[in-house]
Amino acid sequence: MTVQASKSVAAVDKIDLDAPIFDPAAFRLGNEQAGIIARARELGQHVFAGRAAAYDREAKFPTENYRDLHRSGLLGIAIPRQHGGFGADYQTYALAAAEIGRYCGATALTWNMHVCSTLWSGPLADDLDMDATTRAEHERRRAVHYKRIVDHGAIYSQPFSEGGAAAAGGVAFGTEAKPVSGGWIVNGKKIFASLAGHADYYGVLCTEIVEGEKASRRNTLYLAIPAKTDGVSVVGDWDPLGMRGTVSRTLLFKDVFVPEDAALMPRGVYFQAAMRWPHMFLTLSPTYIGLAQAAYDFTVRYLRGEVPGTPPVKRRMYPTKQIAVAQMQIKLEQIKAIWFQAVTEACANPSKEQVLRAYAAQYSAMEGANELATLAIRTCGGQSMLKSLPLERIYRDSRCGSLMLPWTAELCLDRIGREALYETGETDD
Ligand SMILES: Cc1cc2nc3c(=O)[nH]c(=O)nc-3n(C[C@H](O)[C@H](O)[C@H](O)COP(=O)(O)OP(=O)(O)OC[C@H]3O[C@@H](n4cnc5c(N)ncnc54)[C@H](O)[C@@H]3O)c2cc1C
Repeated sequence: MTVQASKSVAAVDKIDLDAPIFDPAAFRLGNEQAGIIARARELGQHVFAGRAAAYDREAKFPTENYRDLHRSGLLGIAIPRQHGGFGADYQTYALAAAEIGRYCGATALTWNMHVCSTLWSGPLADDLDMDATTRAEHERRRAVHYKRIVDHGAIYSQPFSEGGAAAAGGVAFGTEAKPVSGGWIVNGKKIFASLAGHADYYGVLCTEIVEGEKASRRNTLYLAIPAKTDGVSVVGDWDPLGMRGTVSRTLLFKDVFVPEDAALMPRGVYFQAAMRWPHMFLTLSPTYIGLAQAAYDFTVRYLRGEVPGTPPVKRRMYPTKQIAVAQMQIKLEQIKAIWFQAVTEACANPSKEQVLRAYAAQYSAMEGANELATLAIRTCGGQSMLKSLPLERIYRDSRCGSLMLPWTAELCLDRIGREALYETGETDD
């Protein structure tokens, strides 16, 4: 069972720490990365877990958690060391995010939007082609973004969904950036914009208008638009089933002037990333690995009569409960194994097999987390789904995973089926 860490670790501050989801020795993690992941887990367990119910109940953004993420250095987890961050690579970030998701899904999911602004502009962009002048310019610009985060705790979001086919990757974004002297004028609308009204910068994906050309995905820009800029507004309400603390309201951009230095990636680099670094779209999944683990942890504790706030009634002696826990453990290990492999092999120009595995890992994490939460409720019984306990929130939060574009569960199935059966360029004509 993974619930309790060893006594020697727990003795440090007299609180029993949960064991890591991925044991550093078993999964061959380095000391430095294990340290970063442990920091995330401790913050999650000690601080975020206790606040999660209120954020969920009130559909309130976890502002206090973000202050703690800044204080602990985790706001800059993927920012290169020379810029004051932890310099975490993709795998380290993913494992740390899973630990946060275990204690507060909404914090982990929104932290993902924030971290992507540094991961995509950082280690990911370093793998992509740019000429020397463009790379130098990118280096200068990203240093400005990193400084805001490291020094001032600035929070970035990542609104790309628009309600049409663009977020699925099918067509160019409808939000448009018209070039003007010194920058662009941006117009458009983003739906489900997590952190709306709470981020300091919206990392907006939009299409640069090129005179005489049709809108093209090749001309996608990734711009950090300050939330307080004239013409930016947040509209609509937010009262969803799950992930309520993400506050994913609608963002409107009306004739918003955005200077050139706001580019988080140079022209053409986002499109290159989407083509050559597909694991960039797998970063929503760590949250749900954390939720899957949380559903399992809860079940074991509940059946052992150890959930705080519930009577110490043991239910573990019933064979049906033991079989259900065995099924959950097998499912969890299956999800963890494929997901760990996929986040470990994330790189530029992955093989076809690696891309198919990334889709399969996303599908497994997103669908699997909710399957585990469903099994947990069935196994623990009626009292376990009371609002006073975290399981029903885990269940609702986990329901949202398979809906996240561009890699929804349905789209992963579509792509796996098609790409397994057809080589590039093959048709049946
Ligand atoms: C809690 C939460 C937080 C979110 N946060 C963000 C955020 O921060 N930033 C952001 O950009 N978005 C965010 N989203 C939005 C999310 O990524 C999706 O864009 C959104 O859930 C899509 O909803 P829709 O009803 O518009 O989907 P639709 O586009 O109507 O799609 C409905 C379903 O049809 C399928 N589908 C869609 N397109 C295709 C296609 N081309 N081919 C085949 N099937 C297709 C998909 O399976 C999809 O689930 C968030 C969503 C949730 C629930």
